[in-house]
Amino acid sequence: MDRIAGIETVCLSRMHDRDQQWFTAKYRTVKADCCLVLVHTESGRTGIGEASAYGNPTKISGHIKDLAPMLIGRTVSQCEWLHPNGRQQSFDCAVAGLDTALWDLRGQLLSQPVAKLINEKAMTQVEVYASGGCRYDWRVDPDQLIAEARQYQNQGFRAFKFRLGTFWDWDAVTSDRFIELVTALVNATDSHLNLMVDGNCRLSERQALDIGRALAQLGRFLWFEEPIDSKDLQGYQRLSRALDIPISGGESFSTLEQMMPYFTSHAFSIVQQDVGLCGITEAVHIGEIASSYEIRTVPHNWHNGVVTLANAHAVAALEPAPLVEMNMLQGPLQWGILDGPMPISEGWLDISRQEGIGANLAPDISKRYPFIEGYYGVAVER
Ligand SMILES: [Mg+2]
Repeated sequence: MDRIAGIETVCLSRMHDRDQQWFTAKYRTVKADCCLVLVHTESGRTGIGEASAYGNPTKISGHIKDLAPMLIGRTVSQCEWLHPNGRQQSFDCAVAGLDTALWDLRGQLLSQPVAKLINEKAMTQVEVYASGGCRYDWRVDPDQLIAEARQYQNQGFRAFKFRLGTFWDWDAVTSDRFIELVTALVNATDSHLNLMVDGNCRLSERQALDIGRALAQLGRFLWFEEPIDSKDLQGYQRLSRALDIPISGGESFSTLEQMMPYFTSHAFSIVQQDVGLCGITEAVHIGEIASSYEIRTVPHNWHNGVVTLANAHAVAALEPAPLVEMNMLQGPLQWGILDGPMPISEGWLDISRQEGIGANLAPDISKRYPFIEGYYGVAVER
């Protein structure tokens, strides 16, 4: 019987190079963070999970210390399922990291990829889409967005998601001006490149309607993500009814309970639960229930290599054409934590030959990427 001997949190950071800092609205992101959860067994195995660093690595470490006694001394199969509570983000991220590490151990013990443990018929390849488009500044160079789109297209990605740029009020940006830029982007890229807009909950319902209609007409958009405040259930319901483009959301929710009202009222067509925030167990549960409402899962995935692998396994078990997000702006920390080359080629991630989630950590990561205390974003005023 291989029992759990210790649980460890590894917090890592890297300052962004000045020209790689990115921003949404009024926040400039100055560093990349990573929060790994390692579950060690007596025989020397290590299960690896990554908690979303949005939960604050220092706070997550504290929760892991509190939760560890529930698991230490047990075998993996004796571990109780840990559940996110949907109320405290740092706690949910801690649970998510532990849950993922336990799944990784299960896969290692049975020499199977996690996706296969969840679903015998899981897909073995997951498509990755390029997620970025948050470095363009409406005042300085909005066309940077178009150059970025073309760069990903040349790297072989088949889909690109972008954001709304700097705070619109600073430069009197309107829906029409945004639509103009989006139209230019559509015309400047290959007709095979699929596109998505992430509103980051910044738009009014009126703006979302105008932009959503334009996106539908342009014909290249897979979905319109979180156009309005994530808690505005009725707003989402009205937008989904009015627009001919799938509306997606749910990245900030960690429990099925929080998602259910959006499912039953057909407020989403795509749900974006993130294993880094809700864990593999809850993410799969959410996805299974979502599919009974004909809602597709495309996970939110915004940090480093370990959670990208974990999200890929979860969605491979859920979807016939699994698609996962990849942050194109995270910098060297993202894949530098893993041993060997980035496991993605030309926009595809192969998970067929892995045991567990297939994450092997590179040596000396704590020395190479020492944790830097403090918030990753700096508020900017103009
Ligand atoms: Mg999003």
